Amino acid sequence: MPESIAAAGWRFDNSYARLPETLFAASQPAPVRSPAVVVVNEPLAAELGLDPTILRDHGAGVFAGNEIPPGAEPIAQAYAGHQFGHFTNLGDGRAILLGEQIGPSGRRYDIQLKGAGRTRYSRGGDGRAAIGPMLREYIVSEGMHALGIPTTRSLAVATTGELVLRNAPLAGAVLTRVAASHIRVGTFQFAAAVEDDRLLPALLDHAIARHDPTAAESADPAVAFFAGVVERQAALVARWMLVGFVHGVMNTDNMAVSGETIDYGPCAFLDTYDPATVFSSIDQQGRYAYANQPGIAHWNLARLAESLLPVVRGGEDESLEAVRGVLATFPERFDRHYLAGARAKLGLVTEEDGDRDLFAALLRSMHESQADFTATFAGLASMAESHAVPAREATAPTLREWQAGWLARLERQSGTPAQVAARMRQVNPVVIPRNHRVEEALSAAESGDFGPLHQLLAALRDPFVETKDNERYRGGPPAGCGAYRTFCGT
Ligand code: AMP
Ligand code: MG
Repeated sequence: MPESIAAAGWRFDNSYARLPETLFAASQPAPVRSPAVVVVNEPLAAELGLDPTILRDHGAGVFAGNEIPPGAEPIAQAYAGHQFGHFTNLGDGRAILLGEQIGPSGRRYDIQLKGAGRTRYSRGGDGRAAIGPMLREYIVSEGMHALGIPTTRSLAVATTGELVLRNAPLAGAVLTRVAASHIRVGTFQFAAAVEDDRLLPALLDHAIARHDPTAAESADPAVAFFAGVVERQAALVARWMLVGFVHGVMNTDNMAVSGETIDYGPCAFLDTYDPATVFSSIDQQGRYAYANQPGIAHWNLARLAESLLPVVRGGEDESLEAVRGVLATFPERFDRHYLAGARAKLGLVTEEDGDRDLFAALLRSMHESQADFTATFAGLASMAESHAVPAREATAPTLREWQAGWLARLERQSGTPAQVAARMRQVNPVVIPRNHRVEEALSAAESGDFGPLHQLLAALRDPFVETKDNERYRGGPPAGCGAYRTFCGT
């Protein structure tokens, strides 16, 4: 490896690779013909303690899998998962974990190459990825991060100079993903399903050390850890709902115990508000529709609860009761986060019993009038300031009616209209990764023009402030675009 990239600041400690070997397989990325960097996330590089300039100028080999940074011990992780309700054995079929980078703050970050070649878990797949889906994950995950929502991050995308064969031949690419960990609900399902009594306790200790260190001191660490996961997922899915995000494939292998959003495949943000929205072309039944997400998260957590049972202290009945008790707290935890977020979106700082209905009535009116989710909430701040419904909303008489009740509600708390509006602008984004803008950037990138990609990424970096530069990223798709569909990100 060239000296320059070796000296970028790598500091690996690979604790996952020290777990029992059944949980992973040592796997080297398969070298590619002609690596080239498309994008490097320089602020994230700095957070990781890596030199952004070195990565940009000399990182292609590492980001494409041709060079292994010093201290990395590449592995593919084993996991299982319920996919659309059906249990399957899986594992990283096209992702290779380089190792855990210890950042300057002492934080531990998984660094994973997605699309880096075949592994023991590839089954019939080629282990590769196309540039479109990898850039898509880069854009949407970084957009999510800028919205303040827990997520895996994207450090870089590199092209391989090779073609991958999908419906058509496409340019191959590798995404470098950064995560608090890649431990999934499905990782616990795998450990529980294998007949090896060492796996589950080892995985649990590892996950606790990384995500819930205080659980180790608890009378029942497994239950305390589970409570942590339930709380993080309740908070996460509430955040998704409040920005109109549809994950698209909430299989248990795509749910991280860290509470970060993971595996951006057929995900998308709502334009017009419809709770039944499904974007994924493979989700025929609408299992993972927008409105179903809290219920699915709860269902997935029940699968985690089952997997943890063997490591819960006490007899069989006591264990069952303990995890059931924690699992049962999900709806109220979700509701608490959701309601708090809903109040913030409406500019409410006091709590009244009618707040939940007020928010629900707004959503109903948005549904009826096919209002744009993001633009409606962004517009409320101006409505709070001027007490007038903007002209462009004139087609929504139900919104006018709703507005009177909301303004009366605002009158019953302190704060000037300007203060209320300023508060609302901190939580209601004006820019989200709109589907038509993402597609526009991807199709330009596919034909070698990366300008639109960088402009979109710049607009997403500051999602709460209206600027001249982000104007074209604020609006919904042109009328008559039809329903948006995404295809599973392979
Ligand atoms: P996903 O739908 O991306 O969550 O992936 C589900 C499973 O399929 C995971 O185990 C992936 O590693 C595997 N997989 C997806 N694409 C490929 C591919 N091109 N080659 C091998 N395995 C893949
Ligand atoms: Mg996945």
